Order: sequence, then structure tokens, then C-alpha cells
Amino acid sequence: MKIFAVAQQKDGKLAAASYELIEAAKSLGGDIHTVILSDNASALASELAARGGGKVLAVSHPELKNFNDEAYVKVISNLISKYSPDIVLGLASFYGKALFSRLAASLGAPMASEATAVSLDGNSLVVTRPSHGGSVIAQVTATDSDKPYLVTLRMKIYPESKDGSGEVVEESVDASLLESKMSIKEVKAESAGSVNLTEADVIVSAGRGIKGTENIPMVKDLAQVLKGAFGASRAIVDAGWTEYSNQVGQTGKTVNPKLYIAIGISGAIQHLVGMQTSKVIVAVNKDKDAPIFNIASYGIVGDAFEIVPAITKKFKAELAD
Ligand SMILES: Cc1cc2nc3c(=O)[nH]c(=O)nc-3n(C[C@H](O)[C@H](O)[C@H](O)COP(=O)(O)OP(=O)(O)OC[C@H]3O[C@@H](n4cnc5c(N)ncnc54)[C@H](O)[C@@H]3O)c2cc1C
Repeated sequence: MKIFAVAQQKDGKLAAASYELIEAAKSLGGDIHTVILSDNASALASELAARGGGKVLAVSHPELKNFNDEAYVKVISNLISKYSPDIVLGLASFYGKALFSRLAASLGAPMASEATAVSLDGNSLVVTRPSHGGSVIAQVTATDSDKPYLVTLRMKIYPESKDGSGEVVEESVDASLLESKMSIKEVKAESAGSVNLTEADVIVSAGRGIKGTENIPMVKDLAQVLKGAFGASRAIVDAGWTEYSNQVGQTGKTVNPKLYIAIGISGAIQHLVGMQTSKVIVAVNKDKDAPIFNIASYGIVGDAFEIVPAITKKFKAELAD
């Protein structure tokens, strides 16, 4: 069985979750090939090879510096034709979702998205994935397909592969594969020091209960003390209090941190589907009947304006020791 793991990079740095893909591939056994595209993929490929990436296919070209759906799909399709993998694993990140849906359409291949586990039943891949907003856990498999089975994996479910063997294989790229109707004019950096929401171990999210944009620093302070990321409900994104990139939920990001703290968030199903797999959920809400308490590991019924500054102060003192 041949498995492709499609690693992800941004600004020339590997997404740590790329190592989770390698770990998932290892759990299946077989022949692992890790794919990395970048303007200078060789250095990244060496890092992947040192942590169990198997045969690491490095494709370098200036046009591959930033993610471009069209070019990436053509280059990866070309590698799939060349190596004929049985399974292609990618990340259920914004990039991964865009890439894999296009790949599946262009190859006519079966695809399962947002997987939380992959396993083998004989020679068939079985993918476990939440469905219907997480109320159903489905196990799906592809039957009678002569195409590779494409799967995007949720982040922070598999541990990162720490070691293993690997070798770098430099792959050349034909310029015709890089032609695209899309060109990237500008890439805006995320604010310095901010922690990436989908990779964060701790997330502190704010909802409409914080009353206004002027109170966002109160929530960001707590996130910063815990070295976590700041998240938001759609209500406050729609209200213009914070950027869409912070939104958690059905139409925002799916997150899976070790600790998720929800401040003044009611717990609408569209928010829950994006964060309910978090390991520990703490909710602060002044309404004891708020639905968020149904899924919270710990609930604090009270006023966010009293509780958040108090716990921030306590954490500052504790963590300073
Ligand atoms: C198609 C679709 C997609 C959607 N996608 C998303 C999505 O991706 N993400 C998302 O979040 N939502 C999404 N929504 C919106 C979702 O339905 C809710 O409207 C939204 O999540 C509510 O946000 P909220 O909890 O911040 O606000 P509210 O529901 O207004 O809740 C505010 C909470 O704050 C509490 N509160 C008030 N004052 C205080 C205080 N002083 N201290 C403590 N608590 C206080 C209240 O008791 C209340 O529970 C979507 C909706 C649709 C229809």
C-alpha cells in the first residue's frame, strides 16, 4: 500500500500538523511518500525526512512559494500519476480543504473530509468522520475505485511524528503545470505574536456577551497569558468587532485544542461544530441555561467582566512563579 502525505508550508515554514499526517500514514503501515511544494522545498523536505516522512518528494519553484489552488492541484496530480498512491492524506485546514476538493474533482477520485481517524479493513481504507454537526460519527470507505482515496484529516487528533527514516527526492516541475488564471498580488501577515488558531493548544474565544469591540483586549489578555490564540463567535465577526480569520464554527475554523475557553458565547450548534472536540471546554456565561454548558467540562455562571479579569490576574500570578 502506497500512502501520500501532503505536507503544508506557509512563509517557508512547515505547518507542525504535517507531522500528524506522517503519524497517521505510519499507523496504516505501507510505503510513505510525503509531498512538499515551496519556492525552496529541499530544506523543508529534509526536516520531514528526519521525522519519518519516508520518500519525501520535494517540488521547488518560485511560483509555489504561496498556496495557489490551481498550480498546486496540477503539480500534485502529476505526482499522483507518476507514483500511483492508494491513499492521499492532507490537512483539513483552509488550504487543505481547497486543495483536496479540487484534486478529487480533477482526478474523479473518492474523498472523505474532516477525518478523525483512518484505519484499514483488509485492503480497504476506513475513515472515521463526524457528520450532521458532530451528532453522528460515520465510518466510510471507498469501494471499487481505481483512483486513490483522498482524505483530509482534522488537526490535533494524531500526535506529531517525532522520528523515523526518510530520504529526499527532488522532483522537477514542468512550467505548463504552473499556469494559473489566478495570481497572488499580496500576502498579508497575521499580526506579530499571534498564535495560529487551528494549531493552538489553548484558545480563548469571545462572543456577543462581551458587549463590544472595546472589550476584546480583556479576552485577548487572557489568551496571551495562557500562550493561546484568540477566537470568536460569528456574532461578533458579523458585528465587525473582530476579523473573520478568528471565527470558530461551521462557517469559520474547526479547532481541536487541549483547552477551549468560551466567554459570553451562547453555544449555538453552528459554533459548537467548530470546537466541540476540544479536550477540555470551559464556559463563562451569565445565563445558567445557556446551551454551551451542555458540552462544557467546567461551567462558570457569572459576569464575564468580573470573571475574566480575575482569572487572568490569577493565571498571571501563578504562571509568573
Ligand atoms: C448558516 C449559519 C452558519 C453559522 N456559522 C457560525 C459559525 O461558524 N460560528 C458561530 O459562532 N456562529 C455561526 N452562526 C451563528 C450562530 O447561529 C449564532 O448566532 C452565534 O454563534 C451566536 O454568537 P454568540 O454566542 O456570540 O451570541 P449570542 O447567541 O447572542 O450569545 C451571547 C451569550 O452571552 C451571554 N452573556 C451576555 N452578557 C454576558 C456577560 N456579561 N457575561 C457572560 N455572559 C454573558 C448570554 O447569556 C448569551 O448566552 C451561523 C449561523 C448560520 C445560520
